[in-house]
Amino acid sequence: MTLTLAPGVTLIPTTKRDNAFLVDGDDGFTLVDVGWAKAPGVLLKALAELGRKPGDIKRIVLTHAHPDHVKGAAELRERTGAHILIHQADAAWLEAGRVPAEGRSGAAGRLIDKLPALHWRPVTPDALLAGGELIQGSDGLRVVHTPGHTPGHVVLVHEPSHTALLGDAVFHRGELALGPAALAADPRLRAGSLTQLPQGIAAAGFAHGTPLTGPDISAFHTFLEQLAPKQHQP
Ligand SMILES: [Zn+2]
Ligand SMILES: [Zn+2]
Repeated sequence: MTLTLAPGVTLIPTTKRDNAFLVDGDDGFTLVDVGWAKAPGVLLKALAELGRKPGDIKRIVLTHAHPDHVKGAAELRERTGAHILIHQADAAWLEAGRVPAEGRSGAAGRLIDKLPALHWRPVTPDALLAGGELIQGSDGLRVVHTPGHTPGHVVLVHEPSHTALLGDAVFHRGELALGPAALAADPRLRAGSLTQLPQGIAAAGFAHGTPLTGPDISAFHTFLEQLAPKQHQP
């Protein structure tokens, strides 16, 4: 069941806990994140229900190289012909097919990355992101580099609708949170990275949790203010 967050921005749940986002563009769709190994089938079924075909996905932007976002990426590229884009600081992880030993700040995080279930088919990206750029062909999707959860984590901001697709920079499972510190590469960077987001975000999509739209977005602004109170004082 898909959900429209804003004109041109559609949420597709790939499991009960994981979301991907489809963004309308000049030449077709940009997909933000994939999901676990079964996500390609779920995404292509949702696309068919929208009356569109696999080849309409022109590019896949990965918010970061964690298995719950990229495990289905190799298969989805094969089934759609889409290009895969990721920030340059996470590209080596994507190509390695796993999070490296030093990729999580906590021992619990490092332990889970040894599990074969959390490894993926290595993917060589078609293009690398640096942060600050617009995704070509996407009709206004801006890349904001938000290191902390991973070194190359990015948030995508759909400028026509002021919608932020937050990946794992913010979680919204019950309450807004930065997520478990042990699973982040450098948890100390996370709050500061969020100060890079533009003002006036009108809708928020989370890789994990319920989106915020309409008047509910005020909870997101309050969360940001509490993270970095000095940033918002006159
Ligand atoms: Zn993650
Ligand atoms: Zn995640």
